[in-house]
Amino acid sequence: MTPIDLVAPAGLAPLHRRLELLQFLRVGLTLAVSVAAFLAPGSLGGHPGSSLLVASLAYGGVVAALEVVRRRASARGAALASGLVLLDGVYLAVVMSFTGGPQSRMSFLVLVHVIAVTLLLSFRTGLKTALWHALLLFAVSWLQSAGVVAKLPSGGPDEAAAVRALALLAVAISAAWFSSVNERELQRGKAELRALAAMAARLAGTRERSEIVDALLDGVSQAFAFPRAALVVSDKGTYRAFVRAPGDDGGVTEVAEAPSCDGVVGARPESPVPILMRSLDPRRDPLLSHALPGAVNVVVIPLVVDGELLGVLAAERAGRPDAHVTRRTVDLLAQFATHATLALRAAALRAEVERLADTDGLTGLANRRVFQLALSRELALAQRRGEPCTLVLLDVDHFKAVNDTYGHQAGDDVLRRVGLALAQAARGTDVPARYGGEEFAVILPACSPVRARAVAERLRAAVVAGAGDVPVTLSAGVATYPDDAGDEVSLVAAADRALYRAKRTGRDRVVTFRRSRRLVS
Ligand code: GH3
Ligand code: MG
Ligand code: MG
Repeated sequence: MTPIDLVAPAGLAPLHRRLELLQFLRVGLTLAVSVAAFLAPGSLGGHPGSSLLVASLAYGGVVAALEVVRRRASARGAALASGLVLLDGVYLAVVMSFTGGPQSRMSFLVLVHVIAVTLLLSFRTGLKTALWHALLLFAVSWLQSAGVVAKLPSGGPDEAAAVRALALLAVAISAAWFSSVNERELQRGKAELRALAAMAARLAGTRERSEIVDALLDGVSQAFAFPRAALVVSDKGTYRAFVRAPGDDGGVTEVAEAPSCDGVVGARPESPVPILMRSLDPRRDPLLSHALPGAVNVVVIPLVVDGELLGVLAAERAGRPDAHVTRRTVDLLAQFATHATLALRAAALRAEVERLADTDGLTGLANRRVFQLALSRELALAQRRGEPCTLVLLDVDHFKAVNDTYGHQAGDDVLRRVGLALAQAARGTDVPARYGGEEFAVILPACSPVRARAVAERLRAAVVAGAGDVPVTLSAGVATYPDDAGDEVSLVAAADRALYRAKRTGRDRVVTFRRSRRLVS
């Protein structure tokens, strides 16, 4: 893992892009001077065109050498850029002195330079550059007065007008072109913010975690020109990785699952800062490497809330090994991630609240409310399908004595064990629930009266086998829809009556409603 250098932009376009444009301008300046010196050396001033060509060559050489140094040492890039602007001034002053001093026909190049520096670097730098040019012009003019530099022989009026018009045109075109660079950046910034707002609106309308994952990865792919993006999210003790395929219609797919969120980001959830990686290391970052195989220049944003790592967003910048990622891009990616983090957190809290409302706090089984809902749902289904549905009510025998002998904490532990045993013994479609106190209920969909007793015996035996240090026995009452009762109220009453018979006939047994009727009558 190698961190990427960040370039802090002073304006709208990234600084390195603007410095690049200034280099293009320098090539343009030398070309303009060289072409003029080559095509019409006589009309430019007292010096032969070859002097201008030599000066341009020397200037071009120094600029090229400094450019190489600037690319290698990005930390000193700003100082070198300032030095280059000063050098531009010196070159243009030399050109002016060779072509007639302040009256030179090449003086419009100074204007172009000042405007370019103003638009591409800053207003202040532009002012300083203009002062620098003025100072150098004074020097050139002084050299003319001293007779060191030749004065421009006056040209014809038509020629002067044409040169001036061309100069104006050059200034206007340059200004428009350079300002369009910032304009394009402005448009891009607007598009990014629109994508952020669209994602925030989409997140506000969803409760589903999968929707949040889709919204974030779609938003990132719309706002940035990143070829690939992945999201790793924690889910009940594991981390799951999702990837968005490239292209506008690329969908989001789950690609991997792992018990941890990788060494790189998982290590520091307490200080969540974006991490920039030249490449992913499959040994250190197995999950991310699997999600984005062979990825280069990856921006990783940890999704952290309240010191808890909910996951990571990873976006691949791709490009050359020395590619830059601007701070603005990283900041904006972090904003996308923050929105998604809060939405994920809200979804998790909502799911937890719903779980708490539905489950019994001691045993983790469905509570009485959910039991009632499940019973009416299952009876309705049984009626529609013409199938039976059995209800088993179970009651721990002499539980009061357990509390009295071993204490209430031991009693609670017994109830927890009973709940666990029932949950493990029940099938996937069965609904085990805590009915209240030391009473439990299990709904057995599609279970006929013939099988019901055997199933209830299996449940009872599972609880007895799962008991800890405190031995317990259970009594159970069984009733089946539609044979023993036609609705949920009478089904519960029938099972309760059978349970009562089980208690009355010695406990530690299963009694079916049919049998209890026979016993009574
Ligand atoms: P039987 O065999 O007739 O069912 O006798 P029993 O002692 O089990 O029945 P009883 O209804 O007399 O007592 C039930 C006891 O269960 C009384 C109550 O304090 C206890 N109990 C109910 N809920 C809890 C609980 O959540 N934790 C603990 N530790 N005890 C509970
Ligand atoms: Mg009881
Ligand atoms: Mg009891």
